[in-house]
Amino acid sequence: MENCLFCKIIAGEIPATKMYEDQNMLIFKDIDPKAKNHYLCVPKSHFKLLADMTEEQSEMLKACFKKIPELKKELGLENGYRLVINQGEDAGQTVFHLHIHILSGQKMGWTPA
Ligand code: 5GP
Ligand code: ZN
Repeated sequence: MENCLFCKIIAGEIPATKMYEDQNMLIFKDIDPKAKNHYLCVPKSHFKLLADMTEEQSEMLKACFKKIPELKKELGLENGYRLVINQGEDAGQTVFHLHIHILSGQKMGWTPA
């Protein structure tokens, strides 16, 4: 997808601190962390919303959810973690390539707004 920041990171055109990569996903550090550890897990196929997801893309997303807990040491998830997927305007989605925020490394409050 042209002009998509995360497609460019996946293609290696824009640098990122990579934590894990396979045929389904890339996990890298968020440039502006909102918790002590803040990573983004990005499926390698471009889509914006869960509502747009194809069957094949849903398999990639499933692989993401399966892999994340397997990386508990590498991502510092031992004491718990939070996953967030922002969808659309009200949620404040700013990059229109679906991604899972992985937050960990500290106690987290709950302030949805
Ligand atoms: P969203 O707001 O769409 O749910 O999340 C987008 C995330 O991408 C934000 O947390 C933001 O800090 C992160 N981000 C934006 N630009 C870059 C970048 O160039 N590199 C990395 N690693 N993260 C970025
Ligand atoms: Zn993309």
